[in-house]
Amino acid sequence: AVELRNVSKSFGNLKVFDHVSLTVERNEAVVIIGPSGSGKTTLIRCINHLEEIQDGEILVNGTRVSHKVVGGKRAPLSENEKTANRRSVGMVFQRFNLFPHLTALQNIVEAPMHVLKQTRQEATEHALALLQRVGLADKKDQYPAQLSGGQQQRVAIARVLAMKPEIVLFDEPTSALDPEMVGEVLAVMKELAGNGITMIVVTHEMGFAREVADRVIVMDKGVIIEEGSPDQIFSQSKNARTVSFLKRVA
Ligand code: ATP
Repeated sequence: AVELRNVSKSFGNLKVFDHVSLTVERNEAVVIIGPSGSGKTTLIRCINHLEEIQDGEILVNGTRVSHKVVGGKRAPLSENEKTANRRSVGMVFQRFNLFPHLTALQNIVEAPMHVLKQTRQEATEHALALLQRVGLADKKDQYPAQLSGGQQQRVAIARVLAMKPEIVLFDEPTSALDPEMVGEVLAVMKELAGNGITMIVVTHEMGFAREVADRVIVMDKGVIIEEGSPDQIFSQSKNARTVSFLKRVA
């Protein structure tokens, strides 16, 4: 499980959120929705050490990954400690960030070989299985520039899965894609959720949230204003801010 306990985050004077708590259980698919600027992306970036938190703590499987306590005081983790923690948390970004000079297959085997110390053969076998899983077995030797945006994003997802993370964070994974490619990426994510990959997804794709989420979290102005099953949120919400947000995006 991933647990955020009373986490607070500011950028200078701008308080993005204050004392947010959230637990995501193993095998759960949680989708975070809410208006632009409400803090959704920042929240998941904190889990992956891309942002430092000012207060509270973040735990992965009971181990605190947000900071250490030295002499009774909070101290930031070293870069090495952050890197070690990041192994258990995978992140899929809006922009796919593949290595342009490596093929799809090479993009996937790199980290398992260097970080997990897998042999080339082990890493390659796993990578080929993952490429198959995201529907790209026939593209293994293509370079990113030879792939569509949707295909690149699916390679990026395979690359994250190759590290066998405890949880995968998706930061608006389809918002940089041409509309006709959104569906293929959401289909891959749906398959992962259906097969028990623990995930937190920040998205503006309400259809996906409704169909795939085990739990939907609604954020507004840095606060979790409501959470529940897709049906509770999309069909039965009595929260005026949720209802008004859903009306705007419908
Ligand atoms: P969107 O749906 O538009 O992506 P969001 O809910 O993901 O929005 P965030 O991107 O988390 O919102 O932003 C939350 C707030 O923090 C916004 O007011 C944003 O301008 C601010 N913010 C985000 N990143 C930074 C940064 N690096 N420095 C300063 N302010 C930031």
